[in-house]
This record gives sequence, C-alpha cells and structure tokens, in this order.
Amino acid sequence: IIIVMTLTYYHKGVMHEQVLPPEDLAFASELEAAIAQEAFYLVYQPQLDFETGKLVGVEALIRWQHPERGVVSPNQFIGVAELTGLIVPMGAWVLKAACAQAASWTTGELSRAKVSVNVSPLQLNTPCFAEYVLLVLQETGLAPERLVIELTESAFIHADCTGNERLQKLKQHGIKLAIDDFGTGYSCLAYLRDIPGDYLKVDRSFVNDIPGKERSEAVISAIVVLGKNLHYQIVAEGVETEAQADYLKALGCDFVQGFLYAKPMTAQALQDWMRNRADLA
Ligand code: C2E
Ligand code: MG
Ligand code: MG
Ligand code: MG
Repeated sequence: IIIVMTLTYYHKGVMHEQVLPPEDLAFASELEAAIAQEAFYLVYQPQLDFETGKLVGVEALIRWQHPERGVVSPNQFIGVAELTGLIVPMGAWVLKAACAQAASWTTGELSRAKVSVNVSPLQLNTPCFAEYVLLVLQETGLAPERLVIELTESAFIHADCTGNERLQKLKQHGIKLAIDDFGTGYSCLAYLRDIPGDYLKVDRSFVNDIPGKERSEAVISAIVVLGKNLHYQIVAEGVETEAQADYLKALGCDFVQGFLYAKPMTAQALQDWMRNRADLA
C-alpha cells in the first residue's frame, strides 16, 4: 500500500497542494515527536554597536538535539517544519523560551540587550499571533522594547492584509521589527516603504563579496542609503573579516553580527563570553 500525503494550503484564496516525499514525511514525524519532547534549545548570537562595540542585542537561533544525528541546524529542518505547519508550535516554543531567557538577564549589558526572534510567515499568519506575543511578554515579564521580531521579505508577500495590522499592533505595544536577509527575496520596495520596521538586516551573501566585488558593493551601499533614508537602523550580518567590518562601518551600518565577533552560543556560554569581555576591558 502506498500512502501519499498531500498538504493543502491556501495562498491568496487559492488552494495549493504539494506532495511531501516519503523521506520528508518520516523526517516530519521525527520533528513532531521532537516538539512534544522539547528536544530543541536556543543559541544566542551577539549583535554589537559598530561605533562603541557594546552589546545591543542577541539573535535567538534554534538547534535540534537529535538522538542519533547530534545537533541539527535549522537550515535542515525549518523547510519541512514550514511545509507541515509544525513551525507554528515550534515557533511558539522559541518565542517563549527566548523571552524567558532574556527576562532572566537582570544585570549588566545583558539586562538591556534586545532579543531577536525569527518568525516564519506561517506563524505570522496565525490568527492570534499578536495576542500570543503579548501573552508571552506578560508571562515572562520581558519589556516589549526588548523584543525584536525578525521577518524575511517573504513574510510580507504571504501576509494577508491583516498581517500588516498585526505588525502595527505589535509596534503599538513597543515591540521592534526587523526585516531579515534583505536583498535576496523579493526585495519589494513598496514593502520596505510600508512595513513599520525598525531594523534592516543586509543579507550575508552581499557581505561575503565585499570589499572587492564592485557589483555587490554597489548593491550593498544602495541598500544602506535607502534603508537609512527610510529611518531603519542597519544591521550587517555574517561579518567574518576585519576588511568587511571596516567597509560596512564606513558605509554607515549601525550594528554588526558575525563570526568575527562571536558565534551563536548557549545562554551559559554567552554569560561567560560577557564576563571575559568585561575582564579584558
Ligand atoms: P538568519 O535568521 O539569517 O540567522 C543568521 C544565520 O547566519 C544563523 O545561522 C547564524 O549562525 C549565521 N551566521 C551568523 N554570523 C555568521 C558568519 O559570520 N558567517 C556565517 N557563515 N554564518 C553566520 P543558523 O543558526 O544556522 O540559522 C539559519 C536560518 O534558520 C536563520 O537565518 C533563520 O532563517 C532560520 N532560523 C533559525 N532559528 C529559527 C527559529 O527559531 N525560527 C525560525 N522560523 N527560523 C529560524
Ligand atoms: Mg534572523
Ligand atoms: Mg538573516
Ligand atoms: Mg538567513
């Protein structure tokens, strides 16, 4: 007997069906079990102020502690989680865990650091997304100003018209919004104009190429100028070399995140990292 699982989803009122290959289906059921067992944990990557070098925030990134495969990175499972809808309960867990962690930091720079949480388009489109975020803030006691929701450009394409209302509602409560991986998706300039975003994260693929690749330099400097004119603060992500850092700083990027400064790390390792920095200063 061959069972073919088809997934039905709606986009702009049109029903779409997609067949999930058997290997993905097996993977999805492992993923579902992992959600039930809370087999995930978060790592946090520092975001620094380019000018002062001070910690301004951390990005929460999910990891899956798999019994046989070891630590599985999100690029290997977010896709299937989105196709199956499992991203919704998973994302709910991430939001709560990240807010609880940030609220538990009550001393030093970490107590003022923002925490950025990646939110998938599907999660944004759940009817009570904004209410859930507010509930989590209330339960964890995290100040709304310390939460940054990171959305990729595709979230705006797929958002029904209430997506924007939801974003407005979150903004009214003081929550910050970041547009992630800018420049690689649809890069719709109307969204950049209309979305009430606070931060613009320049995609790593551009950062990789600079300095030196003239065409990438042209794109990245145009993004920075445009973003600044629209009153976004610009975050350079994926910075690995001093040359990249110098270039991006000179362009006027406000914040920086990348392996040159720190890799994503567990909350415990982050606290040690902060202590080391304080000792060195
Ligand atoms: P992202 O949101 O753009 O996150 C940044 C990614 O770039 C992270 O990969 C981070 O480890 C990596 N990175 C940061 N600095 C550098 C660098 O200097 N060099 C290089 N080579 N890489 C760098 P990670 O943790 O594997 O996450 C990959 C993507 O998975 C994320 O991209 C995000 O789209 C997604 N993701 C991660 N956690 C979550 C989550 O909790 N929910 C959702 N919906 N998506 C998530
Ligand atoms: Mg992100
Ligand atoms: Mg990104
Ligand atoms: Mg990315």
